[in-house]
Amino acid sequence: MWKKLEHAEIRKTIFDAIDQNANFYKDDVFGVPASHLDSKVFYQDEPFLKNAPFLATMVHNPNHIGCHTLGKSESYFSGTQAIEREVIRLCAEEILGGEKGQFDGYVASGGTEANLQAIWIYRNYFLLELNAQHNEIQLIGSSDCHYSMPKAANLLNISWNAMSVSGEKRNWTKESLTKEIQSCVANGKKYFIAVANMMTTMFGSVDDIHILTEVLEETGCKFFIHVDAAYGGFLYPFAHAKNPLDFRNPHISSITLDAHKMVQAPYGTGIFLMRKGFMKYAVTEEASYVEGEDSTIIGSRSGANAISIWMILMMYGYYGWQEKVATLIQRTSWLCDRLDQLAIGYFRNEYSNIVTLRAADIPADIAKNYALVPDNHHEAKWLKIVVMEHVTLERLDGFIQQLKDNK
Ligand SMILES: *Cc1c(COP(=O)(O)O)cnc(C)c1O
Repeated sequence: MWKKLEHAEIRKTIFDAIDQNANFYKDDVFGVPASHLDSKVFYQDEPFLKNAPFLATMVHNPNHIGCHTLGKSESYFSGTQAIEREVIRLCAEEILGGEKGQFDGYVASGGTEANLQAIWIYRNYFLLELNAQHNEIQLIGSSDCHYSMPKAANLLNISWNAMSVSGEKRNWTKESLTKEIQSCVANGKKYFIAVANMMTTMFGSVDDIHILTEVLEETGCKFFIHVDAAYGGFLYPFAHAKNPLDFRNPHISSITLDAHKMVQAPYGTGIFLMRKGFMKYAVTEEASYVEGEDSTIIGSRSGANAISIWMILMMYGYYGWQEKVATLIQRTSWLCDRLDQLAIGYFRNEYSNIVTLRAADIPADIAKNYALVPDNHHEAKWLKIVVMEHVTLERLDGFIQQLKDNK
């Protein structure tokens, strides 16, 4: 498992990577519509930049266009691309249990793009390899799925059906899922793209992948399973060693992570991971002026985003990250114990840092003071607390005291 690095080692690695890139300040780079950041506004000789590798990367402005795990990419930025490749490897292999050297991926603009990328690839696979019609392709996922699923179906001209969930774990049952998937089949759907959540946005619930796989196999239809771990990808695998939603499961061929949620990286740091052999279904060969062409949705993007993820993960190391997660989980359990004492209703997955409260149990002014997020801004049934770094026991205790005073 990856080792923690000292600040000086991290800094040296990043500045060495920048040095291997083309240098717009010194080299004759004439052909690309790119340069360093505007020098009147972003002065590159600022002394503090020498100690700020992320900001220095931003000022140097490398473009990470394309996918860098496929062998060929824009050679001007090979130094920082190698760091992005290392982020992809680390996430696929060390966090998500994938085998060595078997994964492609890239740092996307966010979880939305990574989900779109996966669904785009599977749709194209069905169109190209199996001569499918658009109206025969069905995207499914739980009714607690992120809204990027209906968005993807809309963009890609395929249908989306939300599968109902119920009960203590907010999960589908064998019966409910069979009924709903069979009804898609009866409606002429022959090809399935299924999304399983490793923590949903509103509840932190985790889908039952075994039931999903069983029911899909029973249809006899060709299917792919994508895991949306935008929320849980940097938390759940550390809290639950027997995580059934990672690449050790052969039915799972792609996973979305977001570093701009639990990892506290800047926005623009979604991560797309996929088993090798599939990126070709997303290649735009017309991108011929780009070295290595382009197999991503986004096109140009800043290399600084990948640098930020790498720096954060290296600062902690595997064990440091596990400790960080353990602290968040422990605070979440502390909160749940207090809620139990006050008989306030809530949903929580035992390996998650999200507590979703029954709105009826929470006075409106307290919900407002603590910026609790409702499931629906018109008529809230649920209000969510996410136990992040700044949500300390001390602050949670203040919240509990207010609830007590209100009783
Ligand atoms: C946040 C989130 C996304 C998408 O996130 P963006 O980064 O905002 O695009 C997708 N799925 C889940 C479960 C999420 O929580």
